[in-house]
Amino acid sequence: MRYLKIEKDRTYEFLEKLKKYGKLYAPVKISDKFYLRKEIEDVKEIAFDYQRTLLPLKKYFLPTCEKMFDIDIEKNEYRENLEKIEPFVIFGAHACEIVGLRILDGVYLNVYPDIYYARRRKAGIIIGLSCLPDEYCFCNLRRTDFVDIGFDLFFHELPDGYLIRVGSQRGHEIVDENIELFKSVEQKDIDAFREFEERRQKSFKYQGSFDNIRYILELTANDRLWDEESEKCLGCGNCTMTCPTCRCYDVQDIPRINLKSGERIRFWDSCQFRSHGLVAGGHNFRETKKDRFFNRYVCKNSYFYPLGTSYCVGCGNCTYFCPANIDFQKNLDKIRSNYEVIHG
Ligand code: SF4
Ligand code: SF4
Repeated sequence: MRYLKIEKDRTYEFLEKLKKYGKLYAPVKISDKFYLRKEIEDVKEIAFDYQRTLLPLKKYFLPTCEKMFDIDIEKNEYRENLEKIEPFVIFGAHACEIVGLRILDGVYLNVYPDIYYARRRKAGIIIGLSCLPDEYCFCNLRRTDFVDIGFDLFFHELPDGYLIRVGSQRGHEIVDENIELFKSVEQKDIDAFREFEERRQKSFKYQGSFDNIRYILELTANDRLWDEESEKCLGCGNCTMTCPTCRCYDVQDIPRINLKSGERIRFWDSCQFRSHGLVAGGHNFRETKKDRFFNRYVCKNSYFYPLGTSYCVGCGNCTYFCPANIDFQKNLDKIRSNYEVIHG
């Protein structure tokens, strides 16, 4: 891997140059509690120390709502929505989010490639940014706190700038085209990088691993915790909308008033909605709130074989944004200790 350094006072210059590669999106602070990733005009407004944004990275590749195709009933044809996707740059993706995107790639690219997702993925440049965990983060337990693939460039904070890892051909090109902004990495930078990584590891509230949690969950469907916690759940779906790896969508055909044409749209759906498990004939595969609640825990903890991790990357978003204060990580911990009391 190629390593470079950029000094702090040249970082904004580089961010400005990034705009020539496409629209620049990055996190900005919008209130005491919230950050939002949005298009950047003034690079000085970028927040480098954010923890999580209102919506995760997936919104750029899997929009909340999009037209899939137009239908013409008279001509008996459909036209896919293949409007040109302009190139864009995302600055400031955290490691767990990049792993999240790779999980979405596994779903949307690998077996039956989704053209809408694939075109956006091709158009997007991903620039990662190091971070320190807050009390909600448990990406260390998921082994997603450091990423070695899935980005074009990755910025690691140093006292006087950033150590940059180059992760793709496009990353090399961007660096080479702006080479006057970068320096070689010196031993003091490597020492500072190591010190930051040690500090990061020690800052996690939880230590250990969640490697066996998926097996434990499968055995605890009747645990009373699911009754108690699902009782508090409002069924709002915030946990799934803010999750970087939740990927379910619903599809609707919208006829035009002439009934001769129409369009098919898809939009984010949530397994926490009653309608999600409802099928023709009125049968519902997840009839109760408890069914839906438990399903999310099993789904997020299932093993995503291609990456050797679970579908949960440990970002803590679902807990942070839950209006009922339901703590996803704590529930997993409780269920694990319940199991250990019974069987340990
Ligand atoms: S965010 Fe909280 S209250 Fe809303 S559906 Fe998820 S667990 Fe339930
Ligand atoms: S389940 Fe919660 S902690 Fe895990 S990736 Fe989704 S939002 Fe993040």
